[in-house]
Amino acid sequence: MSLDHGSTDAPQHAAMSQFSVADNCLQIGGRALPELARAVGKTPFYAYDRAVMNERVSALRAALPAGIHLHYAIKANPMPGVVEHLARLTDGLDVASARELRLALATGTAPANISFAGPGKSAEDLEAAVASGVIINMESAREMQRIAALAEALGARPRVAVRVNPDFELKSAGMKMSSGPKPFGIDAEQVPAILEAMASLPLQFMGFHIFSGSQNLRPQAIIEAQTKTFELAFRLSQYAPSPVRWLNIGGGLGIPYFPGEQPLDLAPIAANLADLAQAAATELPGAEIVMELGRYLTAEAGIYVCEVVDKKVSRGETFLVTNGGLHHHLAASGNFGQVIRKNYPLCLGNRVSGDTLEQVNIVGPLCTPLDLLGARVSLPVAEVGDLIVIFQSGAYGLTASPLGFLGHPHPAEILV
Ligand SMILES: *Cc1c(COP(=O)(O)O)cnc(C)c1O
Repeated sequence: MSLDHGSTDAPQHAAMSQFSVADNCLQIGGRALPELARAVGKTPFYAYDRAVMNERVSALRAALPAGIHLHYAIKANPMPGVVEHLARLTDGLDVASARELRLALATGTAPANISFAGPGKSAEDLEAAVASGVIINMESAREMQRIAALAEALGARPRVAVRVNPDFELKSAGMKMSSGPKPFGIDAEQVPAILEAMASLPLQFMGFHIFSGSQNLRPQAIIEAQTKTFELAFRLSQYAPSPVRWLNIGGGLGIPYFPGEQPLDLAPIAANLADLAQAAATELPGAEIVMELGRYLTAEAGIYVCEVVDKKVSRGETFLVTNGGLHHHLAASGNFGQVIRKNYPLCLGNRVSGDTLEQVNIVGPLCTPLDLLGARVSLPVAEVGDLIVIFQSGAYGLTASPLGFLGHPHPAEILV
């Protein structure tokens, strides 16, 4: 199915082939979209498809070397059903708050397979982390002292890893999280001193967490970053108070959102990782290698669905006014980290193709020009009651949106 009906030489959105089309309706979870909307009972809603997540994890497992463990980073999509589903499919969970930690523990995942990262952990965060026995990725020297004080008070020996702010960067990442001055982790050059100080504290040293960025679609850049990540871990391990048992190499795998972007080719990344894992077997014998992914596991499995509530023409441009908007899906409006606004892939879910197309702007009900979900999109002629679908919405969708803004109703969420 092709979602772009524009000229053929302009860059197109990648085919959203994770969902099929039958009787001109988008199918999700084995049902036609209008039927699913009736079952949900209201629009707008987010729908997440288990089968798409299953396929994604199987394809990753098939491509990656056997020794690499997969974690799901809950912050991408904390819907309890999604977390529960991915906890079964992956080897562990990554959390970034006490609330996410409770979600992770509720899945029955063993604390040793849960890690907790994030700068500025609160007293509640650290107490919950120490009490539950998860791996705490330490973000500063002060945080290490706070954990040690809690450990003394509770008579515990928490599992800790050092989150390292590497001395290299992930090139062409959508969101850079490392190198240079950063709030995340401890600068690589300060790590030897931290490791020395740790030796006299009541902490169980597990290893390192090195996360260098997100949303990368260039295999070569990922390969380079992963190679440098392992090299850095090998170098820092010489200063460790005990053998490295755990190495979290972050994630960074991107998905295609915008015209011209293509799905990531995993083969070269996997081949390089196999070499790195083999080197790690010598340099860090017995260490568990973990890759933590959020977006890559959930984004493509999710759609956001809103309904056309008005249609009007203003000075030559057609506007489809919907009951959905940036308060539900900030990322699709372009206000969550985009520098130049681009459209997410979208379609008319109850009439995917049509003989007559028209160019429309898709907007929400909020009184701000930022509330734009699609600019100059070619769609089959739409009317009030039609269903607008925004693809690639399973990560950083609802959870990253300002739900309270303007006080409109919240969307529903469903896992199919
Ligand atoms: C956000 C985050 C992730 C997930 O990133 P994705 O781009 O969603 O894969 C993983 N680890 C850490 C430490 C993060 O902060």
